[in-house]
Amino acid sequence: MHDADCIFCKIVKGEIPCARLYEDDAVLAFLDIAPVAPGHALLIPKAHHADLFALPPVLGTALTAAASRVGRAVMAAAGATGLNLQMNNGPSAGQVVFHAHLHLIPRQAGDGLALWPGRPYADPAAMAAMAEAVRQAFESLK
Ligand SMILES: [Zn+2]
Repeated sequence: MHDADCIFCKIVKGEIPCARLYEDDAVLAFLDIAPVAPGHALLIPKAHHADLFALPPVLGTALTAAASRVGRAVMAAAGATGLNLQMNNGPSAGQVVFHAHLHLIPRQAGDGLALWPGRPYADPAAMAAMAEAVRQAFESLK
């Protein structure tokens, strides 16, 4: 259930302190120690799972339900008018701690935080080819 070397497992077990916001049987939320914006929270399953792909669907459901509840509280406390949810899966996506976690980032109009830039496909055929490749990829999934 826990990984002895995982910092988030140590937080769950109380071996490392955190600014605890919410917890239930399945999940724990606490403030990020290096927030993108004040109120930036992390929401994790209490059980150790490396990332989204290792997460049992029932825990994904628990995380989503808690994200709505914690997100509303974070927004209210931070005086925010919006919220970004972000989950980094894999080093190339910026994951640093390999215990699945959602970032809850409260937002204000004009707060200066930029989302990643979108770039259109080269042409409609390239977009259609990607959609077909993804549909085909489902065939290889377990
Ligand atoms: Zn862990």
